[in-house]
Amino acid sequence: MTTANLPLNQSNWTVSDSSILYGLNLWGDNYFSINKKGHINVNPKRNKGSSLDLFHLVKELEDRNLKLPLLIRFDDILEDRLTRLHKAFEEAINQYKYTGHYQGVFPVKCNQHRHVVEELMTCGSRWNFGLEAGSKAELLIALSLINNPKALLICNGYKDQRYIETTILARQLGRQPIVVIEQEAEIDRIITASREIGSAPLIGIRAKLSSRSSGRWGSSIGEQAKFGLSIPEILTTIERLRNADLLNDLRLLHFHIGSQINDIAILKDALQEAGQIYIELNRLGAPMGYLDVGGGLGIDYDGSQTATEASTNYSLQNYANDVVATVQECCKSNNVEVPTLVSESGRAIASHFSILVFNILDTSVVPAHIPPVKQEESLIVRNLRETLEYIQKIPIGSNINSSKLQEAWNDAIKFKDDALNAFRLGYLGLPERAIAEQLTWASAKALVERLPQCEIIPEELKILRSALARTYYANLSVFRSAPDTWAIDQLFPIMPIHRLDEKPNQLGHFADLTCDSDGKLAKFINNGQTKSLLELHDLKPNERYMIGMFLGGAYQEVMGNFHNLFGTTNSVHLRLTSEGTYRLDHVVRGNTKSDVLQAMEHKPELLLERLRIATEEAIQHNKLKIEDAQRLMDHLETSLRQSTYLR
Ligand SMILES: *Cc1c(COP(=O)(O)O)cnc(C)c1O
Repeated sequence: MTTANLPLNQSNWTVSDSSILYGLNLWGDNYFSINKKGHINVNPKRNKGSSLDLFHLVKELEDRNLKLPLLIRFDDILEDRLTRLHKAFEEAINQYKYTGHYQGVFPVKCNQHRHVVEELMTCGSRWNFGLEAGSKAELLIALSLINNPKALLICNGYKDQRYIETTILARQLGRQPIVVIEQEAEIDRIITASREIGSAPLIGIRAKLSSRSSGRWGSSIGEQAKFGLSIPEILTTIERLRNADLLNDLRLLHFHIGSQINDIAILKDALQEAGQIYIELNRLGAPMGYLDVGGGLGIDYDGSQTATEASTNYSLQNYANDVVATVQECCKSNNVEVPTLVSESGRAIASHFSILVFNILDTSVVPAHIPPVKQEESLIVRNLRETLEYIQKIPIGSNINSSKLQEAWNDAIKFKDDALNAFRLGYLGLPERAIAEQLTWASAKALVERLPQCEIIPEELKILRSALARTYYANLSVFRSAPDTWAIDQLFPIMPIHRLDEKPNQLGHFADLTCDSDGKLAKFINNGQTKSLLELHDLKPNERYMIGMFLGGAYQEVMGNFHNLFGTTNSVHLRLTSEGTYRLDHVVRGNTKSDVLQAMEHKPELLLERLRIATEEAIQHNKLKIEDAQRLMDHLETSLRQSTYLR
């Protein structure tokens, strides 16, 4: 982890400096840019079509009483991601003259929200885009929302008898569900259910590949993986299906090597292995027809194009090319007809279209202002003042020998320790200890201002920069809105959405509203590395400071929880119009306090009633005036109907 470097050049800061500083030019993928006003611009169709000033949009949404924190969903971006995925496969299929085609599905677990799944089904119908379900509840969503008979419904996850019966019946309904066998026990259930109903489902097999992925989700594959059949199990499955007269319904081979594949080499290995298994299944007499390469298509969160955790060393087109070419090669050399290629890309489709915008409530302040000189100050305080004056006398514009600064800092630290010792022994009072601390911080600040002039900056002085960093108090709950940053250290691009024509002059990290010390955002993208502090602006009086968290449209919402009873945020779905304005398609209000209390089995009316009785008692004992009791009750009642976040 490296610490951030505040840009040196104070004057003539431009928006392109901001773009480089926050890496927007790398990860923005042309969906996001900075306009002349220094605001983020959202360009849902990338270089084509109109764009929207995010800062103005937020203001207009706030005018509609949609207060921050706010999740803004650009359905145009969702559609664009879907289009690009299909275009990439089309291109690869043309390039390699692949004789089959591509037919994708969206893994519902990535974002189950109704408007999201519905939107994908509408936009995706031209490609017969389908859904993947991983549980019985998701199956219900998928069954009901797919109304295109050509779209696939891939059924993953653990399956009981009813799950399987449902898919058989859905096939009769005219849908195309494919039951993917993940465990041997499911074979018996499929056989029993088929006999009972007198009709079979379409069947798939999930293979446990031995190609091992690296990275965070790497353990999803390999022999120890939670899901899938090993090679011997696959062979037994074939025989059992054959004996039950179901081999003719085996159509699909599936594998999933974990989310966010960082390194394309891993995908290639897996594809080759799966390709061979596909050929063997075909030879053993299964008709097959579909090869499902699962999810894992990664997102370049930091734009570094590296095989590091927050990035990928391949593009969408590279991915499609490799899938198509590898399967083509494998089938050609074995004289087997190529399959329809299926992928279950979730993250790659749903990440870009959501932006979480939150405001900053306040910042911590390092107590570095210089206290006025008092008469008869103690020697320790006088020493600290001299040290500070010494540093201040070093002219800022000149070349500075860092050992001078280092010496001064050593002195300051020693005097500060002296102050602490004297305080412990009772020789120094609280006011003087406060002065000593202020002077130490003031020295640190003066020192840091001079660091850029040093040729070599000692490590210890570099750290000073972070010691002077501020905490920005964010109106948000990390546990609700960015749970993966806490749970698995995931990185998302985070930056101000305005003031980008101003040079940021602070380093800081974010603390959220929860009372949990883990409730913070303190790890940021840094071009293939990470940094613990982000370059931010000073708060201006009476002006809001708004921060955006980008690329968080996948997984975050459903993983989010009610820690400290912070509920869902307001969210909106919008589309840009051809006139350059926008249309709000859906508004989903965030949870009220009443909602979150009820989620924990509390009854808001009962809570209020108990408090009302308490106020009556206080009124009787003359501890509370009637009007004050009423004021308290009014506050509580209003509060229940309002959002869980600060206003
Ligand atoms: C989670 C999951 C996916 C989605 O993975 P992404 O990396 O988001 O594309 C696809 N298939 C299966 C079986 C999954 O479990």
